[in-house]
Amino acid sequence: MIESTVDTTQPKSPSELLKDPVIRLDHVHKTYYMGDFGVHALRGVSVDVEHAEFVAIMGPSGSGKSTMMNIIGCLDSASKGTYLLDGLDVSTTSRAELADIRNQKVGFVFQSFNLVSRTSAIENVELPMIYAGVGSKERRRRAEEALEVVHLSDKMKNLPNQLSGGQQQRVAIARALVNNPAIILADEPTGALDSRTSVELMSVFQKLNEERNMTIIIVTHEPDIAEYSKRVLLFGDGKIRKDYPVESRRRAEETLKNMPIIDDDDEEDDEE
Ligand code: ADP
Ligand code: MG
Repeated sequence: MIESTVDTTQPKSPSELLKDPVIRLDHVHKTYYMGDFGVHALRGVSVDVEHAEFVAIMGPSGSGKSTMMNIIGCLDSASKGTYLLDGLDVSTTSRAELADIRNQKVGFVFQSFNLVSRTSAIENVELPMIYAGVGSKERRRRAEEALEVVHLSDKMKNLPNQLSGGQQQRVAIARALVNNPAIILADEPTGALDSRTSVELMSVFQKLNEERNMTIIIVTHEPDIAEYSKRVLLFGDGKIRKDYPVESRRRAEETLKNMPIIDDDDEEDDEE
């Protein structure tokens, strides 16, 4: 067997990755125009997020949290200021390139799950790989693996309406994972979930963060959910008002041991 020492298809080594922050926002502003009227959603946000960080974004409604997530995820662009994603200046990249970068580097999880209805769990997970041009066999393999990570191997053929809210959100996480992105962005991922299911979700995020070194950024309204992260960014009026480490970090696996298991209304055969 020939062992190649330089393999460009492999992820960067830890030392390479540690050189640059994964995300660097420098004086980012965002103004939404509605006719003559401008809404200043971000008013100069500067922040670095390093590889393998786990960040929780908090702050009142309308303070710019989703706007920042959308910019980080290349779903939207800054009106002013610069954004470097893995060292790449996003403002100078073409739309087509941006779509590729987004698909490869970023996995999204939304509050409302955003699964395609009438499409099985595994097919939902395969979607981003179709856009990325991955062959069908490899697609299936990676989708199965991702569903295993979120403990849904037994629900692969289920349609979204045959899954509970927590299970649907886990499908969404599996979908976010399949292209092995550097970053997972989750905008209020537990917003529609009960408290136990929310902690189960945090357990998945903690695993991905610790075992795969994925950079994870979540938006949450719940202070106890933020305590599963490593760092909190507190937003107010389009700016980061506070940026602090989580002192006594919660372990989702530990919390779950002391939480009652409540039967899921919309799922008869939920054996968790
Ligand atoms: P948060 O996620 O913290 O609740 P957002 O980032 O969604 O806040 O919104 C910040 C501000 O920008 C709000 O005043 C909101 O109404 C406005 N805004 C967000 N998205 C748009 C948009 N697409 N068009 C116009 N205004 C928007
Ligand atoms: Mg929001």
